[in-house]
Amino acid sequence: MKILVVNAGSSSLKYQLIDMDNKSVLAKGLCERIGIDGSNLQHTCVVKGLDKIKIENPMKDHGDAIKMVIDALIDTEHGAISSMDEIGAVGHRVVHGAEEFTDSTIITEAVLKQLEKCTPLAPLHNPPNIIGIEACKKIMPNTPMVAVFDTAFHQTMPPEAFMYALPYEYYEKDRIRKYGFHGTSHKYVSQQAVKILGKPAEELKIVTCHLGNGSSITAVKGGKCIDTSMGFTPLDGVPMGTRTGSMDPAVMTFLMNKGMTAQEIDDLVNKKSGVAGVSGVSSDFRDLDDAVLEGNERAKLALDMFVYQVRKYIGAYAAAMGGIDALVFTAGIGENNGPMRKDIVSGLEYMGIAIDDEKNLTRGTVDVSAADARVKTLVIPTDEEMMIAIDTQRLVEG
Ligand code: AMP
Repeated sequence: MKILVVNAGSSSLKYQLIDMDNKSVLAKGLCERIGIDGSNLQHTCVVKGLDKIKIENPMKDHGDAIKMVIDALIDTEHGAISSMDEIGAVGHRVVHGAEEFTDSTIITEAVLKQLEKCTPLAPLHNPPNIIGIEACKKIMPNTPMVAVFDTAFHQTMPPEAFMYALPYEYYEKDRIRKYGFHGTSHKYVSQQAVKILGKPAEELKIVTCHLGNGSSITAVKGGKCIDTSMGFTPLDGVPMGTRTGSMDPAVMTFLMNKGMTAQEIDDLVNKKSGVAGVSGVSSDFRDLDDAVLEGNERAKLALDMFVYQVRKYIGAYAAAMGGIDALVFTAGIGENNGPMRKDIVSGLEYMGIAIDDEKNLTRGTVDVSAADARVKTLVIPTDEEMMIAIDTQRLVEG
Protein backbone atom coordinates (compact mmCIF):
# COMPACT_ATOMS: atom_id res chain seq x y z
CA MET A 1 0.00 0.00 0.00
CA LYS A 2 1.20 3.52 -0.81
CA ILE A 3 0.37 6.14 1.79
CA LEU A 4 0.47 9.90 1.43
CA VAL A 5 1.43 11.62 4.70
CA VAL A 6 0.29 15.23 5.00
CA ASN A 7 1.34 17.81 7.58
CA ALA A 8 -0.59 21.02 6.92
CA GLY A 9 0.44 24.28 8.61
CA SER A 10 -1.17 27.70 8.27
CA SER A 11 0.70 28.62 5.08
CA SER A 12 2.67 25.46 4.39
CA LEU A 13 2.03 21.80 3.62
CA LYS A 14 4.63 19.05 3.93
CA TYR A 15 4.10 15.65 2.34
CA GLN A 16 5.72 12.26 1.87
CA LEU A 17 4.56 9.38 -0.28
CA ILE A 18 5.60 6.14 1.41
CA ASP A 19 5.52 2.61 0.00
CA MET A 20 4.58 0.47 2.98
CA ASP A 21 5.60 -2.78 1.28
CA ASN A 22 9.26 -1.90 1.82
CA LYS A 23 8.84 1.16 4.10
CA SER A 24 10.56 3.42 1.57
CA VAL A 25 9.91 7.08 0.78
CA LEU A 26 8.98 7.43 -2.91
CA ALA A 27 8.66 11.22 -3.01
CA LYS A 28 8.49 14.13 -0.60
CA GLY A 29 8.15 17.86 -0.60
CA LEU A 30 6.81 21.09 0.75
CA CYS A 31 4.33 23.75 -0.39
CA GLU A 32 5.26 27.16 0.97
CA ARG A 33 3.51 30.53 1.11
CA ILE A 34 0.02 29.09 0.55
CA GLY A 35 -2.36 32.04 0.17
CA ILE A 36 0.57 34.49 -0.02
CA ASP A 37 2.51 35.96 -2.99
CA GLY A 38 5.34 33.72 -4.11
CA SER A 39 3.66 30.32 -3.43
CA ASN A 40 5.90 27.47 -4.47
CA LEU A 41 6.22 23.71 -4.32
CA GLN A 42 9.54 22.01 -3.63
CA HIS A 43 9.37 18.37 -4.70
CA THR A 44 11.86 15.51 -4.63
CA CYS A 45 11.22 12.25 -6.41
CA VAL A 46 13.32 9.95 -4.22
CA VAL A 47 12.50 6.73 -6.06
CA LYS A 48 13.93 8.08 -9.35
CA GLY A 49 16.89 9.66 -7.56
CA LEU A 50 16.05 13.10 -8.97
CA ASP A 51 17.20 16.37 -7.46
CA LYS A 52 14.72 18.68 -5.73
CA ILE A 53 12.69 20.82 -8.15
CA LYS A 54 10.95 24.09 -7.31
CA ILE A 55 7.69 24.96 -9.07
CA GLU A 56 6.39 28.51 -8.57
CA ASN A 57 2.66 28.69 -9.01
CA PRO A 58 -0.05 30.68 -7.22
CA MET A 59 -1.80 28.61 -4.51
CA LYS A 60 -4.72 30.53 -3.09
CA ASP A 61 -5.57 27.86 -0.52
CA HIS A 62 -4.73 24.36 0.74
CA GLY A 63 -6.99 22.87 -1.98
CA ASP A 64 -4.69 24.36 -4.64
CA ALA A 65 -1.68 23.06 -2.72
CA ILE A 66 -2.99 19.47 -2.57
CA LYS A 67 -3.78 19.64 -6.32
CA MET A 68 -0.20 20.70 -7.02
CA VAL A 69 1.14 17.91 -4.82
CA ILE A 70 -0.93 15.29 -6.67
CA ASP A 71 0.12 16.73 -10.04
CA ALA A 72 3.77 16.52 -8.99
CA LEU A 73 3.32 12.94 -7.72
CA ILE A 74 1.79 11.72 -11.00
CA ASP A 75 3.96 13.81 -13.34
CA THR A 76 5.54 11.60 -16.02
CA GLU A 77 8.98 13.15 -15.47
CA HIS A 78 9.38 13.83 -11.74
CA GLY A 79 6.40 11.88 -10.40
CA ALA A 80 6.51 8.64 -8.42
CA ILE A 81 3.16 7.05 -9.36
CA SER A 82 1.10 6.92 -12.54
CA SER A 83 -2.27 7.86 -11.09
CA MET A 84 -3.85 9.22 -7.93
CA ASP A 85 -5.64 5.87 -7.51
CA GLU A 86 -2.34 4.33 -6.43
CA ILE A 87 -2.59 6.27 -3.15
CA GLY A 88 -4.22 3.73 -0.83
CA ALA A 89 -4.72 6.10 2.11
CA VAL A 90 -3.77 9.50 3.46
CA GLY A 91 -2.38 10.03 6.97
CA HIS A 92 -2.79 13.52 8.41
CA ARG A 93 -0.78 14.94 11.28
CA VAL A 94 -3.07 16.69 13.75
CA VAL A 95 -1.52 18.53 16.68
CA HIS A 96 -4.19 18.27 19.37
CA GLY A 97 -6.61 15.44 19.99
CA ALA A 98 -7.41 16.46 23.60
CA GLU A 99 -9.02 13.66 25.64
CA GLU A 100 -11.26 12.83 22.67
CA PHE A 101 -8.55 10.89 20.85
CA THR A 102 -6.44 8.30 22.64
CA ASP A 103 -5.21 6.77 19.38
CA SER A 104 -5.02 7.63 15.70
CA THR A 105 -8.41 7.40 14.02
CA ILE A 106 -10.11 6.96 10.64
CA ILE A 107 -11.51 10.34 9.63
CA THR A 108 -15.31 10.42 9.37
CA GLU A 109 -17.75 13.34 9.47
CA ALA A 110 -18.24 12.64 13.20
CA VAL A 111 -14.47 12.72 13.76
CA LEU A 112 -14.21 16.05 11.94
CA LYS A 113 -16.86 17.48 14.26
CA GLN A 114 -14.96 16.15 17.29
CA LEU A 115 -11.77 17.69 15.92
CA GLU A 116 -13.43 21.11 15.89
CA LYS A 117 -14.06 20.62 19.61
CA CYS A 118 -10.31 20.25 20.20
CA THR A 119 -9.52 23.52 18.40
CA PRO A 120 -9.76 25.84 21.46
CA LEU A 121 -6.84 23.87 22.95
CA ALA A 122 -4.62 24.43 19.88
CA PRO A 123 -6.05 27.53 18.18
CA LEU A 124 -3.02 28.10 15.95
CA HIS A 125 -2.31 24.52 14.90
CA ASN A 126 -5.52 22.50 14.64
CA PRO A 127 -7.39 24.78 12.16
CA PRO A 128 -4.77 24.41 9.37
CA ASN A 129 -4.62 20.63 10.06
CA ILE A 130 -8.41 20.46 9.58
CA ILE A 131 -8.24 22.63 6.43
CA GLY A 132 -5.64 20.18 5.04
CA ILE A 133 -7.97 17.24 5.72
CA GLU A 134 -10.96 18.99 4.08
CA ALA A 135 -8.88 19.88 1.02
CA CYS A 136 -7.70 16.27 0.60
CA LYS A 137 -11.21 14.90 1.07
CA LYS A 138 -12.48 17.13 -1.75
CA ILE A 139 -9.85 15.90 -4.19
CA MET A 140 -9.77 12.26 -3.06
CA PRO A 141 -13.30 11.62 -1.71
CA ASN A 142 -12.96 7.84 -1.89
CA THR A 143 -9.51 7.50 -0.34
CA PRO A 144 -9.52 6.54 3.37
CA MET A 145 -7.94 9.15 5.63
CA VAL A 146 -6.52 8.83 9.11
CA ALA A 147 -5.74 11.51 11.72
CA VAL A 148 -2.61 10.95 13.80
CA PHE A 149 -2.31 13.18 16.87
CA ASP A 150 0.76 14.65 18.61
CA THR A 151 -1.06 14.20 21.91
CA ALA A 152 -2.57 10.68 21.58
CA PHE A 153 0.47 8.66 22.75
CA HIS A 154 0.40 10.59 26.03
CA GLN A 155 -3.25 9.80 26.80
CA THR A 156 -2.18 6.77 28.85
CA MET A 157 -0.75 9.05 31.58
CA PRO A 158 -2.45 8.40 34.92
CA PRO A 159 -4.35 11.30 36.56
CA GLU A 160 -1.67 11.87 39.19
CA ALA A 161 0.73 12.68 36.33
CA PHE A 162 -1.55 14.73 34.10
CA MET A 163 -3.55 16.75 36.66
CA TYR A 164 -2.55 20.24 37.76
CA ALA A 165 -3.31 21.17 41.36
CA LEU A 166 -5.85 23.81 40.40
CA PRO A 167 -9.40 23.61 41.77
CA TYR A 168 -10.90 20.52 40.10
CA GLU A 169 -13.51 22.47 38.15
CA TYR A 170 -10.78 24.00 35.94
CA TYR A 171 -10.11 20.49 34.65
CA GLU A 172 -13.81 19.68 34.28
CA LYS A 173 -14.88 22.96 32.68
CA ASP A 174 -11.84 24.19 30.75
CA ARG A 175 -10.03 20.84 30.26
CA ILE A 176 -6.87 22.32 31.80
CA ARG A 177 -4.41 19.43 32.33
CA LYS A 178 -1.14 18.10 30.95
CA TYR A 179 -1.54 16.75 27.40
CA GLY A 180 2.05 16.45 26.16
CA PHE A 181 3.29 16.79 22.57
CA HIS A 182 5.78 15.16 20.15
CA GLY A 183 3.78 11.97 20.87
CA THR A 184 4.29 10.54 17.38
CA SER A 185 8.05 10.87 17.77
CA HIS A 186 8.14 9.39 21.30
CA LYS A 187 5.95 6.51 20.13
CA TYR A 188 8.15 5.82 17.10
CA VAL A 189 11.49 5.87 18.90
CA SER A 190 10.21 3.92 21.91
CA GLN A 191 8.85 1.20 19.58
CA GLN A 192 12.17 1.11 17.71
CA ALA A 193 13.99 0.86 21.05
CA VAL A 194 11.83 -2.12 22.04
CA LYS A 195 12.84 -3.84 18.79
CA ILE A 196 16.53 -3.13 19.41
CA LEU A 197 16.35 -4.33 23.03
CA GLY A 198 14.67 -7.56 21.89
CA LYS A 199 12.41 -7.89 24.93
CA PRO A 200 8.61 -7.57 25.26
CA ALA A 201 7.55 -3.90 25.59
CA GLU A 202 5.66 -4.84 28.79
CA GLU A 203 8.96 -5.56 30.54
CA LEU A 204 10.73 -2.32 29.61
CA LYS A 205 11.16 1.09 31.22
CA ILE A 206 12.39 3.64 28.69
CA VAL A 207 13.07 7.39 28.85
CA THR A 208 12.86 9.03 25.42
CA CYS A 209 14.49 12.45 24.94
CA HIS A 210 13.24 14.33 21.87
CA LEU A 211 15.74 17.19 21.82
CA GLY A 212 15.34 19.68 19.00
CA ASN A 213 14.26 23.26 18.64
CA GLY A 214 11.35 22.11 20.79
CA SER A 215 12.28 19.46 23.35
CA SER A 216 10.37 16.98 25.46
CA ILE A 217 11.20 13.97 27.60
CA THR A 218 8.82 11.02 28.06
CA ALA A 219 8.67 8.09 30.47
CA VAL A 220 7.51 4.96 28.63
CA LYS A 221 6.69 2.02 30.92
CA GLY A 222 5.43 -1.23 29.42
CA GLY A 223 5.12 0.46 26.00
CA LYS A 224 2.87 3.21 27.37
CA CYS A 225 3.55 6.84 28.23
CA ILE A 226 3.22 7.41 31.96
CA ASP A 227 4.57 10.98 32.04
CA THR A 228 5.96 13.62 29.71
CA SER A 229 7.60 17.00 30.17
CA MET A 230 5.44 19.19 27.93
CA GLY A 231 2.11 20.16 29.42
CA PHE A 232 -1.12 21.96 28.61
CA THR A 233 0.91 23.52 25.79
CA PRO A 234 4.41 22.80 24.42
CA LEU A 235 5.81 25.55 26.68
CA ASP A 236 6.37 23.29 29.70
CA GLY A 237 9.38 21.15 30.55
CA VAL A 238 13.01 21.81 29.67
CA PRO A 239 14.25 25.16 28.26
CA MET A 240 14.02 25.13 24.44
CA GLY A 241 15.20 27.20 21.47
CA THR A 242 12.94 30.14 22.32
CA ARG A 243 10.61 28.76 25.02
CA THR A 244 11.22 29.07 28.74
CA GLY A 245 10.24 25.55 29.74
CA SER A 246 8.95 25.24 33.31
CA MET A 247 9.24 28.18 35.65
CA ASP A 248 7.26 29.52 38.58
CA PRO A 249 3.94 30.66 37.01
CA ALA A 250 3.93 33.62 39.40
CA VAL A 251 6.54 35.22 37.11
CA MET A 252 3.69 35.79 34.64
CA THR A 253 1.44 37.60 37.13
CA PHE A 254 4.44 39.61 38.35
CA LEU A 255 5.05 40.80 34.76
CA MET A 256 1.34 41.48 34.24
CA ASN A 257 1.32 43.64 37.34
CA LYS A 258 4.22 45.57 35.83
CA GLY A 259 2.00 46.34 32.82
CA MET A 260 2.73 43.62 30.28
CA THR A 261 -0.30 42.30 28.41
CA ALA A 262 -1.19 38.60 28.12
CA GLN A 263 -0.16 38.67 24.46
CA GLU A 264 3.20 40.29 25.26
CA ILE A 265 3.90 37.67 27.91
CA ASP A 266 2.85 34.89 25.55
CA ASP A 267 5.34 36.20 22.96
CA LEU A 268 8.03 36.59 25.60
CA VAL A 269 7.82 33.07 27.01
CA ASN A 270 7.26 31.28 23.69
CA LYS A 271 9.31 33.26 21.17
CA LYS A 272 11.96 35.31 22.97
CA SER A 273 13.10 33.07 25.81
CA GLY A 274 14.80 29.69 26.08
CA VAL A 275 18.45 29.36 25.11
CA ALA A 276 18.00 32.30 22.68
CA GLY A 277 16.80 34.58 25.46
CA VAL A 278 19.42 33.54 28.01
CA SER A 279 22.36 33.63 25.60
CA GLY A 280 21.28 36.60 23.48
CA VAL A 281 23.00 34.68 20.66
CA SER A 282 20.64 32.27 18.89
CA SER A 283 18.02 29.56 19.33
CA ASP A 284 20.18 27.17 17.28
CA PHE A 285 22.37 24.95 19.43
CA ARG A 286 25.12 24.90 16.79
CA ASP A 287 25.46 28.70 17.04
CA LEU A 288 25.63 28.36 20.82
CA ASP A 289 28.41 25.76 20.57
CA ASP A 290 30.35 28.18 18.33
CA ALA A 291 29.76 31.04 20.77
CA VAL A 292 30.99 28.92 23.70
CA LEU A 293 34.21 28.20 21.79
CA GLU A 294 34.65 31.97 21.44
CA GLY A 295 34.30 32.34 25.23
CA ASN A 296 30.69 33.54 25.40
CA GLU A 297 29.66 32.95 29.03
CA ARG A 298 25.93 33.41 28.52
CA ALA A 299 25.87 30.88 25.69
CA LYS A 300 27.58 28.46 28.09
CA LEU A 301 25.03 29.24 30.79
CA ALA A 302 22.13 28.60 28.37
CA LEU A 303 23.55 25.21 27.38
CA ASP A 304 24.33 24.30 31.00
CA MET A 305 20.72 25.09 31.96
CA PHE A 306 19.42 22.86 29.16
CA VAL A 307 21.72 19.95 30.05
CA TYR A 308 20.88 20.23 33.76
CA GLN A 309 17.12 20.17 33.19
CA VAL A 310 17.25 17.22 30.76
CA ARG A 311 19.37 15.28 33.28
CA LYS A 312 16.85 16.09 36.03
CA TYR A 313 13.97 14.71 33.97
CA ILE A 314 15.86 11.48 33.29
CA GLY A 315 16.32 11.00 37.03
CA ALA A 316 12.73 11.98 37.79
CA TYR A 317 11.30 9.57 35.23
CA ALA A 318 13.52 6.71 36.37
CA ALA A 319 12.07 7.35 39.84
CA ALA A 320 8.52 7.53 38.44
CA MET A 321 8.94 4.17 36.66
CA GLY A 322 10.84 2.45 39.46
CA GLY A 323 13.93 2.05 37.27
CA ILE A 324 15.20 2.51 33.74
CA ASP A 325 16.31 -0.04 31.12
CA ALA A 326 17.02 2.32 28.23
CA LEU A 327 17.58 5.97 27.48
CA VAL A 328 16.83 7.15 23.93
CA PHE A 329 18.06 10.34 22.25
CA THR A 330 16.34 11.67 19.12
CA ALA A 331 15.63 14.82 17.00
CA GLY A 332 18.09 17.48 15.79
CA ILE A 333 20.15 17.77 18.97
CA GLY A 334 19.56 14.26 20.34
CA GLU A 335 20.63 12.64 17.07
CA ASN A 336 23.51 14.89 16.10
CA ASN A 337 25.09 16.41 19.18
CA GLY A 338 27.22 13.67 20.74
CA PRO A 339 29.06 15.94 23.18
CA MET A 340 25.73 17.17 24.54
CA ARG A 341 24.50 13.58 25.01
CA LYS A 342 27.68 12.92 26.97
CA ASP A 343 27.17 16.04 29.13
CA ILE A 344 23.55 15.10 29.84
CA VAL A 345 24.42 11.64 31.18
CA SER A 346 27.48 12.78 33.08
CA GLY A 347 26.98 11.96 36.76
CA LEU A 348 24.31 9.34 36.03
CA GLU A 349 26.79 6.45 36.28
CA TYR A 350 25.28 5.59 39.69
CA MET A 351 22.05 4.76 37.79
CA GLY A 352 23.92 2.50 35.38
CA ILE A 353 23.95 5.05 32.56
CA ALA A 354 27.25 5.67 30.73
CA ILE A 355 28.22 6.47 27.14
CA ASP A 356 31.15 5.07 25.15
CA ASP A 357 33.10 7.97 23.57
CA GLU A 358 33.99 6.07 20.41
CA LYS A 359 30.45 4.79 19.74
CA ASN A 360 29.10 8.26 20.53
CA LEU A 361 30.78 9.55 17.35
CA THR A 362 28.69 7.24 15.11
CA ARG A 363 25.69 8.57 13.14
CA GLY A 364 22.30 6.94 12.60
CA THR A 365 20.63 4.36 14.80
CA VAL A 366 23.30 3.32 17.29
CA ASP A 367 23.78 1.86 20.75
CA VAL A 368 26.21 4.29 22.37
CA SER A 369 26.26 2.65 25.81
CA ALA A 370 29.56 1.96 27.55
CA ALA A 371 30.36 -1.77 27.68
CA ASP A 372 29.72 -2.03 31.43
CA ALA A 373 26.60 0.19 31.50
CA ARG A 374 23.51 -1.52 32.92
CA VAL A 375 21.19 0.86 31.03
CA LYS A 376 21.26 0.96 27.22
CA THR A 377 21.72 4.44 25.77
CA LEU A 378 20.41 4.50 22.20
CA VAL A 379 20.43 7.14 19.48
CA ILE A 380 17.42 6.59 17.21
CA PRO A 381 16.62 9.02 14.37
CA THR A 382 12.97 9.98 14.67
CA ASP A 383 10.60 9.48 11.73
CA GLU A 384 7.22 11.00 12.45
CA GLU A 385 6.07 10.54 8.85
CA MET A 386 6.80 6.81 8.98
CA MET A 387 4.93 6.52 12.29
CA ILE A 388 1.93 8.33 10.73
CA ALA A 389 2.07 5.95 7.74
CA ILE A 390 2.34 2.87 10.02
CA ASP A 391 -0.70 3.98 12.05
CA THR A 392 -2.62 4.85 8.87
CA GLN A 393 -2.01 1.40 7.40
CA ARG A 394 -2.91 -0.29 10.71
CA LEU A 395 -6.28 1.45 10.84
CA VAL A 396 -7.13 1.27 7.14
CA GLU A 397 -6.34 -2.43 6.90
CA GLY A 398 -8.26 -2.97 10.15
P1 AMP B 1 14.91 19.94 15.18
O1 AMP B 1 13.90 20.86 15.79
O2 AMP B 1 14.70 18.50 15.56
O3 AMP B 1 15.06 20.13 13.70
O4 AMP B 1 16.34 20.32 15.83
C1 AMP B 1 16.92 21.58 15.65
C2 AMP B 1 18.14 21.68 16.55
O5 AMP B 1 19.02 20.60 16.26
C3 AMP B 1 18.96 22.96 16.37
O6 AMP B 1 19.19 23.58 17.62
C4 AMP B 1 20.26 22.50 15.77
O7 AMP B 1 21.34 23.21 16.27
C5 AMP B 1 20.37 21.05 16.18
N1 AMP B 1 21.08 20.30 15.13
C6 AMP B 1 20.61 19.95 13.93
N2 AMP B 1 21.58 19.32 13.20
C7 AMP B 1 22.69 19.30 13.97
C8 AMP B 1 24.03 18.80 13.81
N3 AMP B 1 24.40 18.20 12.69
N4 AMP B 1 24.91 18.97 14.84
C9 AMP B 1 24.52 19.56 15.99
N5 AMP B 1 23.27 20.06 16.20
C10 AMP B 1 22.37 19.93 15.22
